[in-house]
Amino acid sequence: MASCGACGTTILFGGRDYAGMRFCSEKCAANGRVAIAAQRVPDAEALLLASQIHAEKCPKCAGPGPVDMRASYKVWSAVFMTRWASASQVACRRCGIRKQSLSALGSLIFGWWGFPWGLIMTPVQLFRNIAAIVKPHDPARPSPQLIQHSRLLLADRMLESQV
Ligand SMILES: [Zn+2]
Ligand SMILES: [Zn+2]
Repeated sequence: MASCGACGTTILFGGRDYAGMRFCSEKCAANGRVAIAAQRVPDAEALLLASQIHAEKCPKCAGPGPVDMRASYKVWSAVFMTRWASASQVACRRCGIRKQSLSALGSLIFGWWGFPWGLIMTPVQLFRNIAAIVKPHDPARPSPQLIQHSRLLLADRMLESQV
């Protein structure tokens, strides 16, 4: 399955193509310029920054780490319209679980009421939240998603310093 070139989320349905890469959303496609620059960031630099972020305190609650990318998944419906989205935050596992639980609860309440996508996407998004809660990233090392996030931060800095 394809994963988003900007945020690393697995793309289940849809997605946007931009400059030969796939993105999960318009927002991520807009980040395509950064994503392309990110390909030039050396692996060692991305890994170094990811390891620093991983070892820091949680930027959300200032609690102990490890800090990593915590994805959460939402869906909401209104009869013939269903919207779904994934979000990623850099946070500790506890903050991640809080967001994933809230997203699961919100999807459970607001997800179903659309046909047909509400009925299809609600179990999908619930499952993805539950999977993220029960199967977290390996706490011993930064996840590939955090390394990708770090790569994008470095690429962003690189582009800004060129302007
Ligand atoms: Zn994305
Ligand atoms: Zn936290």
